[in-house]
Amino acid sequence: CGIVGYVSKADVDNADHAALDVVLSGLRRLEYRGYDSAGVALVTPAGELETAKKAGKLSALTDELDANPLPQAQTGIGHTRWATHGGPTDLNAHPHVAGDGKLALIHNGIIENFAQLKKDLTGEGVEFESETDTEVAAAQLAKNFQDTGDLTAAMRVTATQLEGAFTLLAVHADAPGRVVAARRNSPLVIGLGEGENFLGSDVAAFIDYTRTAVEIGQDQVVTITPETVVITDTDGNEVEGDRYEVDWDT
Ligand code: GLU
Repeated sequence: CGIVGYVSKADVDNADHAALDVVLSGLRRLEYRGYDSAGVALVTPAGELETAKKAGKLSALTDELDANPLPQAQTGIGHTRWATHGGPTDLNAHPHVAGDGKLALIHNGIIENFAQLKKDLTGEGVEFESETDTEVAAAQLAKNFQDTGDLTAAMRVTATQLEGAFTLLAVHADAPGRVVAARRNSPLVIGLGEGENFLGSDVAAFIDYTRTAVEIGQDQVVTITPETVVITDTDGNEVEGDRYEVDWDT
């Protein structure tokens, strides 16, 4: 029900801008929307994917992170879930990991054709551990990454294969410093920073860090790095997002 993504340069000289802190503060800002589980994924500069997820309140996740701290990272995504497919359990919480443990995906919405995709992927030998529609999208994205070798290209293909409503954010261990996203019938905005960029299901996700936002249109795919933001349609044609300043008080 809430989504946050963040990338910054490894040398951003501010302890508050560690990816985990930015992502957790965004999730706190989105708590008002309601949720039943929460989770995060980080990619370390060394190219390790690290995840943590818990059913329950954000405090359950932060307790878990206190008990089992994750390494420093400048790339991260965070999710609060409102379960639609599969009960509110640790295993069904997002992120969902695929692609030999290298890819993590978070999702708000519903993938309507997940049963057929799951059947096809299972036939190809993919194994699933949750009951979610999201894990199927993760496996499909991992398969497309294997075919294309590029996370952004893989996300474009995936967006055309999925039916339903989705905001998707993904990171890959082999692509530190990059978060890739797509949306259809579900909200997603970009927050522009200096040497850092943000994604959120609404501007509350990054309002503590920047007020410059960019709209993402229907069926568009966006890739953020610390210095760049690229939005395309699902054919890969670049599109210009509408930029605006958020002027509400926090
Ligand atoms: N359909 C997904 C699930 O049940 C995502 C739900 C959400 O929007 O949080 O896991």
